[in-house]
Amino acid sequence: MNSAPVDVDLALVGGGGAASLVLAALNRHGVRGLRVAVVDPVHRRGQDRTWAFWDRPGNDLDPVLSASWRQVEVVTAERRQVLDLAPLRYAMLRSGPVYDRAAEAERRLGVTRVVAAADALDDDGERVLVRAGDAPVLRASWVLDSRPRPPRRPGRTNWLQHFRGWWLASDTPVFDADRAVLMDFRTPQPARGVSFGYVLPVSDRYALVEYTEFSPAPLTDAGYDAALVGYRDLLGLDPARLTVREVEDGAIPMTDAPFDAHPSPRVVRLGTAGGATRPSTGFTFSAMRRQADQVARALAAGRPPVPAPAYPRRHLWMDAVALRALDRGGVSGPDFFDRLFDRNPAERVLRFLDGVTSPAEELAVMSSTRLSPMVAATAGDAADRLRARLVRGQRSR
Ligand SMILES: Cc1cc2nc3c(=O)[nH]c(=O)nc-3n(C[C@H](O)[C@H](O)[C@H](O)COP(=O)(O)OP(=O)(O)OC[C@H]3O[C@@H](n4cnc5c(N)ncnc54)[C@H](O)[C@@H]3O)c2cc1C
Repeated sequence: MNSAPVDVDLALVGGGGAASLVLAALNRHGVRGLRVAVVDPVHRRGQDRTWAFWDRPGNDLDPVLSASWRQVEVVTAERRQVLDLAPLRYAMLRSGPVYDRAAEAERRLGVTRVVAAADALDDDGERVLVRAGDAPVLRASWVLDSRPRPPRRPGRTNWLQHFRGWWLASDTPVFDADRAVLMDFRTPQPARGVSFGYVLPVSDRYALVEYTEFSPAPLTDAGYDAALVGYRDLLGLDPARLTVREVEDGAIPMTDAPFDAHPSPRVVRLGTAGGATRPSTGFTFSAMRRQADQVARALAAGRPPVPAPAYPRRHLWMDAVALRALDRGGVSGPDFFDRLFDRNPAERVLRFLDGVTSPAEELAVMSSTRLSPMVAATAGDAADRLRARLVRGQRSR
């Protein structure tokens, strides 16, 4: 027999990165007296991912960062650019402290945990019934849904950012702890897509070294390992002096497909499912954090927890064009990113990637790319959009 659902003001369906940041933000903004529940078959704890992102130093994350750098390198076969990020920094945050903060917030807020997979959200416009299997487990005034899900329909370009990283401990000092390597394009480039390595040093003997591809499909296990061995050798690291302490891998969508951020009146999607992953880079953390803050501020002020879209529409359009140019081979990835950082202050590029630049700055960023392939990609994108709209129009007749 099904028991009656528990009534709450806010249900977080999915308790990963996006939900953890919301819980911590509710605590930070002093929200109390709100009935909150989290539904997730897994209670996330400890280290299951490492977030790299940029921001302004001097905020609540300072005490929990594993490392941060004022300078980063962008490396191609031709040259090594050293970029000064001031007033920003590039930072590394492991998931452990983020989940710990969420757990602390759960205690303070008296959060109800439902350890189950939510299967359906029935929104009648006033309340949302959250079901796990056949059982209605919660009745919530608002749902923040961050369960992984595909976009509403496939995009015109459907890539992944897929990667594997090794946490490498060396018995001699081999890393420059003052600088991270943001993108190192000396890795062999795939036939379709872009590859790069990067290095996030915590000390001169300990670093996360990753191999990443932006391309249509993941590699095999052996493929990632071979790529990492190649990159380790490229860095001149001696395997006899290294220990792989941990392995981290994952895949993130890079697509111009639409993600529904507000699928029904009282359901809001957050995280990757809500479109927080920037299509041209896979970076997600900053948008999740921004939206978590907006949600908490809204609830603290008694307003609906509906954040602004993760990125402005014009940014999504620019990303669609850039992805298309990279995918159709009009633009080489290493050349694209090298020019972007060479012809703009690093801070402008990073703020652009966060979706917080002005149109004038965006014009400057876009005009630093090679003109003719971008014009071709813009025209191709426009033609595809028109075609798709005509097909949808015919279907709905
Ligand atoms: C290894 C890795 C490294 C990353 N590194 C970076 C980075 O450096 N910088 C960056 O900006 N982004 C990074 N990302 C991308 C992004 O920031 C993360 O994926 C982030 O965790 C996304 O948060 P989320 O809440 O959308 O998804 P998740 O954190 O994956 O959370 C989704 C949650 O939904 C739960 N769930 C699944 N099904 C159900 C169900 N039916 N009912 C209820 N709950 C369910 C899952 O158990 C999970 O806890 C990385 C991603 C990965 C995988």
